[in-house]
Parts: sequence; C-alpha cells; structure tokens
Amino acid sequence: MKIADLIPTVTGSFPNDFNEIIKSINQNQIYKNKNSEKLLWPAYQFSKHSHDGQKRKSGKPYFEHCIAVAKLLADWHMDINTIIGGILHDCIEDTPVSFEELSNEFGEEVASLVDGVTKLGGIEYDTRKEKQAENLMKMFLSMAKDIRVVIIKFADRLHNMKTIEYLSLIKQRRIAIETRDVYSPLAHRLGMFELKSQLDDLVFKTLQPEKYKKVDKNLRSRILNRSKSLKKITNKIKINLNELKINYELKTRFKSHSSIYQKMLNQNKDFAEIHDIYAIRIVVKSKNDCYSILGLLHQFFTPIAERFKDYIATPKINGYQSLHTTIVSSSGEMIEIQIRTEDMDRTAEIGVAAHWKYKGKDSSNSIDKHVKWLRDLLMILSDESSDPSEFMNLLKIDLFQNEVFVFTPIGELIQLPLGSTPIDFAYEVHTEVGDRCISAKVDGKIVPLNSQLSSGSTIEIITSDSQKPSAAWLKFVKTTKARTLIRKSYRKSEKEGSAKLGKEILEKTLRRLRMLDRLQILLSSPSLSGFENKESLLISIGIGEITVREVLQKSFPSDDNFDIDFKKGKKEKSFFNLARNNVLGISVDGIDNILINLSKCCNPIPGDEIIGFVTRGKGVSIHRSRCKNLPILNKSSDRFIEAEWKISDKKEFFSKINIVAEDRKGLLKDITEAISSTKVNINSLDTKTQDSLASMIIILAVSNLKRLNQVIRKIENIKGTLSVRRFNKN
Ligand code: MN
Repeated sequence: MKIADLIPTVTGSFPNDFNEIIKSINQNQIYKNKNSEKLLWPAYQFSKHSHDGQKRKSGKPYFEHCIAVAKLLADWHMDINTIIGGILHDCIEDTPVSFEELSNEFGEEVASLVDGVTKLGGIEYDTRKEKQAENLMKMFLSMAKDIRVVIIKFADRLHNMKTIEYLSLIKQRRIAIETRDVYSPLAHRLGMFELKSQLDDLVFKTLQPEKYKKVDKNLRSRILNRSKSLKKITNKIKINLNELKINYELKTRFKSHSSIYQKMLNQNKDFAEIHDIYAIRIVVKSKNDCYSILGLLHQFFTPIAERFKDYIATPKINGYQSLHTTIVSSSGEMIEIQIRTEDMDRTAEIGVAAHWKYKGKDSSNSIDKHVKWLRDLLMILSDESSDPSEFMNLLKIDLFQNEVFVFTPIGELIQLPLGSTPIDFAYEVHTEVGDRCISAKVDGKIVPLNSQLSSGSTIEIITSDSQKPSAAWLKFVKTTKARTLIRKSYRKSEKEGSAKLGKEILEKTLRRLRMLDRLQILLSSPSLSGFENKESLLISIGIGEITVREVLQKSFPSDDNFDIDFKKGKKEKSFFNLARNNVLGISVDGIDNILINLSKCCNPIPGDEIIGFVTRGKGVSIHRSRCKNLPILNKSSDRFIEAEWKISDKKEFFSKINIVAEDRKGLLKDITEAISSTKVNINSLDTKTQDSLASMIIILAVSNLKRLNQVIRKIENIKGTLSVRRFNKN
C-alpha cells in the first residue's frame, strides 16, 4: 500500500470524489451510517489500484466511471454493500482480480454482486428476436437471485449513456438501441421512472440527434417566453397552500425531451400544439395532506376532469402512487400537478430500489408486491414448453398497456392489463377458477367470456367441475399468465383425449382380428408390451408411437397368427410412421399440441404443404393443402386453419419417391449418384423391372422440401427417366 493511501487515517481528509459519495449516503436518514467511510474506503482504494493505468475512451481515468456508478447508487439510497459493489463492478471483468480475491477482501455478498454484474455484462444483445428474448431471460433470472445486481447495472448503463459521445457511431447506436429495448422497459417495470426518463432522453439524443436538437431549441424558447406566466401561477399555488398550514415541498419541472417528442408523434402534433410541458410536484408528509391540497387546488383552479387520476387509491402495477390533476393557466398553458407523500415520491423516482433498505423488516412484502409481475414471469420461465416470444410479449405488450382495476365479489382489487377479459380475471384469481370458468357476471349481469373488462366493476366467476379450458380462449385472453395456464391444462386434457383414442384403436383392431378376448390381458399387464401403466400404453397407441401390431408382437412373441391378418397396406403405413417420426409435431394456427389427426386420404408427410380442417368432435384433421377430399368450402371458412410442420433444423424427414424409367445398364448407378451428389441419404431402395421398364421406390432422408425437389429434378434429367413423383397414396 502506498503511503498516500494512508493519509485519510492520519489527517482525516478524504479525496473529494470519495466525500461526495459519503455525502449522498448520509443524506438519507434511514441509511445514514457512521461506518460508511470505514467500509467504503478500502473498496475505493482497491478499485483505484485495480484500474490503475486504464483509460476510458474519453481519455479520462477508468476509475472515474466506477466512482460515478457508486455515486448514482448512493443517490438512489442503496445499501452500503451495493455501493461497494458499484465501485468494484468492473474489477472482475476488466482487471486480473478474481471472485475469490474479492470475496476474501469484501465478503461473499459484495463478491456475488460484482460477479452478477459481470455475468450480465457478458450477455450479448442481439436484435434477432429469439436470441434477444433468451438473453433477457438470463438477465431476469439473475435478477431473481438479487435485484441489486440489476440496479448496479442500471447505474453502470446510465453513466455509460451519459458518456456515450466518446464512442464510435456504430457502438453508440448499438448501446442506445439496447438501452431502448432492454433497460428502459425494465426500469419502467421496476418503477424507476426518473431513471427511465433520463435513459429515454439519452437514447433520443443518440439515435435522433437532429430531432432532439429541435425539441431542445423549442423547449428552451418556450420556457423563456412563458417564464413569467408560469412563475405567476406557481406563486398563486404557493400562496394558497401556505394558508393550509401544511408542510410541503414544491418542485417544478419540464417534460422530458423524449416524452414531448413521443407525444408529438403519437398525436401527430407540432411542438406549438403541445400544451402540457410544465409540471408541478408537491410533496407532503401524509396521505391526508395530499387530498387536502387537491381539494384546495380544485377550489381555485379549474381542473380538466378527464385528466384527474387517483393513483393513491389504485396504484399502478409497478407500485407508483400519486394524485394527478391538470389545471389551465390564464395563458392557456396546461399544468399537471402531482401530489404525493415523501414515501411515494421516493418510490416514483427509484421504484423497487426505494424498498430495498427495509431489508429484514417488511421488505419481502413490499418488494414482492412491486415485482409481482416478476413472479408471473418466473412461472412462465419455469414452464419448459413456453417459448421465448411469449416472454417478449410479457415484456412488450403488458409493458406499454394501461391497466384496468376490477374487484372480486369480496372487494379484493385485481389489476389487469387493458382489454382483459373475465377469463384473464379468473386466472388471476386462481388457476382452478380459470380452468373451470363457464360464465361470468359483471356487476351482477352475465356477460360473454370474451368481453372486455372496465375499471371499477365487480366480477363474479361461475365455475363448473365439468368445464375444461378451451383453445378458443387463447384467441381473446390478454394476460400471458392466462395464456400459459390455458395451454398447460389444454395439454393435460389432450393427453386424456389421446388415451381415449388409443383405447378405441386397440379395441377396433382387436375386434377386426377377432382377438377381443386379449384386450383385458393387454390392459391389465401393460408391462408385457414394455409400458409402465395402462394409460401410457393407450396414449402411445393414440398418438401413433406404437401400433397395435407391435403391442401384440411384444406381448405374445410366440404367437404370430395375427400377423397374416394385417393387410398389405401395413407396410405403407409404417412408412408414414417412419416419415413422421422425426418431426416435433404440427403447429396449428400457431398453437402447438392441439389434438390433431393426420388424414388417411392424402397421408401428408413432413415437407408437404398442409392445412387443418376442424372436424366435429375429433379435433383438427390435417390434409395436404391440395387434397381432393377436402370438403368444398371457401378456404377462408372458419373450419380451415393454418397448419405447419414443426421440424427441428437439424432433423431430417423421410420422403418416398417413385421413379419409372427405361431399363438400361448403369441406370441404378446414375440415380444413386444423382441422389448422393445432392448430399441426400438413401434410406431404402426397392426396384422392379418388367417389360424393360424399371420401377423404383426410394425412401430418402432429406432436410427440407427444397432439397427434395432438387433431387427430383436431378433424377428427371437422367437419360431414360419417364416419371418421378412424390409418393402420395397407399
Ligand atoms: Mn462499467
């Protein structure tokens, strides 16, 4: 250690930047900590040494960034370990310091925070949608462990955005887009409005510098022009408030550049037409004071009725609370007045972070409440079958929608996104209630299940034990939670359906083979055919994983009487099973795992264009889109739905082709060479020659339809080929 570092303990004077952080910490009564200097100083020195010699792109010492991040965290009233984590946040990533070293010096908690930040930093943001969502998932999962990691990352990002001008234009753009798509929505969700607004402005400035400058210029001249009238109205408010004898703090502020610009875009207005750029915030001690002040203001100024919002009685999902009212000044300026308590004010500025310090007391409760959506999110993440785009929906759709507030019959308040239906409400109350919902009453009247709820109504859900979630619900539910739960129970009932189908197939086949007497044996001893229980045997038959013939062969290996009874067509059937084996399934109208059956008339196999036809009672039957047996209905009829094969990239599917050619020497060699030159594998080859005509049936393993058509064209060009066609029917 250098002598200079010891100076503070000798002379008692710390460097200025260090003192700034201490000052911020001690500004907060609850967090005031007389040990903060002692705790923070070693981290200050450690980080300074670790980053010694490193420079930022601006040419300034890297360490200044670490200090700036710690200062922001202190301003947000984070606990001392988070601030220490902030000073050290780049140590693992950018210096040779290891996790163990940090852990030894500053304890496990600080080391884990830094480690978490390092891991978040390693996430590469990619505009390709799926990847992006995956990355976000990782980010959230790490947040679920300790939200402070995300808050340090926010401070890091805010400072990086503030100093973005030193980076190359390409980098500026990448970072600004990432901030816009990931950090800003997240800050909104966590209720960190102040941060979000700062980030949005920096993004706006980076991505649209010209537009930003224009708004900035307009804003400045407006402020200059109206300063007198604004001052007048502010004073009038103050004089009236003073008579109430309430302690208050009045802050004035202007709308952010980005929100002004957003408003201009959304409402297609010029700057001159935006009248509400000025806002007044009144912060008081108690909730009662908020309402007293509101009453007083409404006495002296005319409020705009539609713009009055009571977020104290009904807080936003992210915990935001405040009274909003808008009054009009004599010069026609609209002024939004926000009235709230100190507590609400802090929550509004720093959101979840405001509640962190109550750790140990009632923290879990308030944090739980504020990140309720996080739990919903984790539920979706824990469901393996949910896909990343669903996650994006949770972020994107839920995020920017307003909420509706409705009540349960016992008066519990339920918050839902705008446009939610009784089904969304039912799932919000309880999974069971959602699954069994048959009808709903809004304020005592029966309404359709797809009707949209509006704020203030009381919803009663009527359930029935025999009800099951319907796929049709997916068309109108709003919340991701409801959607996920509907799919989940839908899959369950689909399994039951498959078992039923399996039983039917088994009985029918046994009856045809006159072996119905074996049914009981098969069902009571599923282990004979290698199944754990009756149900899994029936499901397996129902979904076509195993044929009845295979079950019989396994169960009665010495008895092959039944074999001759299976008709010739069975060989083809097994080809179709083979072809379908390598496919993940069929997705109908974008929904997976719907009860489907593959039609027997045209036997679609992977690669064919297909269409779903809704049958009565037997789910969706899948045909080739050009199947002649499809009922003649307008293709836009409700009963037709889009369907597509879900083939994983790496997998190949089997396709069968029939070649007719003049027999000649070397024909077979030419054909196999043509096939292998396209890197397609031959699974089986069957050839017959009659009257100097060769007829071949080849099963190919191909990765996609394009490749298959390529093979077909190659074979068509071989000398002597008369016809090459896809195998269509038995
Ligand atoms: Mn950093």
